[in-house]
Amino acid sequence: MIISMRQHATKQEIDYVCERIREFGYKVHSIEGEERVVIGVIGVGDVTACLESLEATPGVERAMRISAPYKFVSKEFKQESTRIRVNGSEIGGDEFVVMAGPCSVENEKQILETAEAVAAAGAKVLRGGAFKPRTSPYDFQGLALEGLKLLAKAREATGLAIVTEVMSEGDADLVAEYADIMQVGARNMQNFALLKALGKCRRPVLLKRGMSSTIKELLMSAEYITAHGNPNVILCERGIRTFETATRNTCDIAAVPVLRELTHLPVILDPSHATGKRSLVPALCRAAVAIGADGLIVEVHPRPEKAMSDGAQSLRNEQFATMMQDLEPYIRLWKESRVAAAAV
Ligand code: PEP
Ligand code: MN
Repeated sequence: MIISMRQHATKQEIDYVCERIREFGYKVHSIEGEERVVIGVIGVGDVTACLESLEATPGVERAMRISAPYKFVSKEFKQESTRIRVNGSEIGGDEFVVMAGPCSVENEKQILETAEAVAAAGAKVLRGGAFKPRTSPYDFQGLALEGLKLLAKAREATGLAIVTEVMSEGDADLVAEYADIMQVGARNMQNFALLKALGKCRRPVLLKRGMSSTIKELLMSAEYITAHGNPNVILCERGIRTFETATRNTCDIAAVPVLRELTHLPVILDPSHATGKRSLVPALCRAAVAIGADGLIVEVHPRPEKAMSDGAQSLRNEQFATMMQDLEPYIRLWKESRVAAAAV
């Protein structure tokens, strides 16, 4: 159950509702939003009696039964799509938002060249890892603070927002000083200490699906962030591990419409990690638009042959520009269908 309090409910009213919930044998998890307090009711008990009683309690606006194990991120909790404003763009609304940039921030020239190219081609957010989760401890681990500073420089030069990965709870404050969106990588999707820390963070979070995670597990991880106070989560399908070896991962294309049915959170697609192969990226970008994703996150590098990570799946700057142009007619149709859906 979720209990949504009225906008100006008093502290006594809120405390009384919490007391009543406990009397019914449940645990309380309340979130103080900007506008109102929302109380999650957790546990097993007499749902109908509790709902009826709370609906009639002063200060309560709405009491809802939510059957999914994830509450705050479910469509049952909130029908309208969550729109996340970042630097003048709105993710989850009527805009198809493209994030692009290199896998890793390598040096000033590389990040500035890429930032200028992707901005000119229509991207709104610059990606680039400063903290890199690498399979081998001997591989390039990222420039850390220096990388964050270079991203800030690229933002200043181009006006692009920045999305970059945060790998540990201890780095959350530092990364939040530089990033507009905090990325949680596939390998950290169930790093619960990190998810809790991001719940306290004032920045939106881009949560990537773990490579062996189910959609339910992805939503439960998003629930960690929202239940700890941060409602601005963007979900990202980036391919999962299967028996197939022709691609780096198997892109679960159906995950996008499935998620759009289950949650109000925005959903984007990462065609680069999903395929591992530059030549396959444009086709998956078209697919993402066609299935109603809210945007893309694409790896782009000015000289992929020299990239310190993920060169094989990175588009060259010019290839990204061409891909964006080719995507235009699809995005036009996407916008029409979004506007039509909003009008219903
Ligand atoms: C990345 O975005 O460069 C990355 C490491 O992605 P993922 O966590 O999806 O593997
Ligand atoms: Mn990468």
